[in-house]
Amino acid sequence: MKPWLLNILACPICKEHPLTTYVLKVGKNRLRDRKGLAGELIAHYQKGVLSEPSLEPVHNFSKDKTFDTRLTKARKVFASLSKQKPEPIDLVPLVDYFHGLEVLVGALRCEKCKRWFPIGSRIESIPELLPDAGRDEKADLTFLRKHADMLPQVIVSDSKPFAVKVKS
Ligand SMILES: [Zn+2]
Repeated sequence: MKPWLLNILACPICKEHPLTTYVLKVGKNRLRDRKGLAGELIAHYQKGVLSEPSLEPVHNFSKDKTFDTRLTKARKVFASLSKQKPEPIDLVPLVDYFHGLEVLVGALRCEKCKRWFPIGSRIESIPELLPDAGRDEKADLTFLRKHADMLPQVIVSDSKPFAVKVKS
C-alpha cells in the first residue's frame, strides 16, 4: 500500500477518515518521473483529494528510518502548501512519501468504531478493508499473534472485531 492511499481510505463500516496507520514493514518504489507525479499531486491537492489529517495518525514501528524522514518532510511540505500556489518542484517530497514508499505489512485502525484492518496479511502491501462478515477470524488472529510484539496493545487486544485475549 502506497501511503498515497491514506488520503482516500475510510472505514468500510462507519466511513470514518483518516484511519490510524501502524507500519511494520516498509518497501521502496523506484520512481521514474517524480516531477510528473508531483504535477498529479497538485491536481489532487486542488481538487481536495489530498488529506492533510491523514498524515498525522501514522506510526512507523519498522526499522526503516527513511519512512520517518520522508513522513516528517511530507508533513512540513503539506503544512506550507496552503500558504502558497504550489509548483511541482515543491511537491517532490510529498511524491517521495506518497509514491516512493510501500507499506508491506501493517495495520489500520478506525478510532470511531474501534475496528482494525490488516495490511499485507495474505499478500504483502494489500490492505484488507472488509466488513466483519467478510473477514476470516482465524487468519486475522494469526496475523495479530504473529505481530503482537510489534503492534500496540490497542490493535492486538483492544479492537474489533477480533482481538487476542491477554492472559492476566
Ligand atoms: Zn469505523
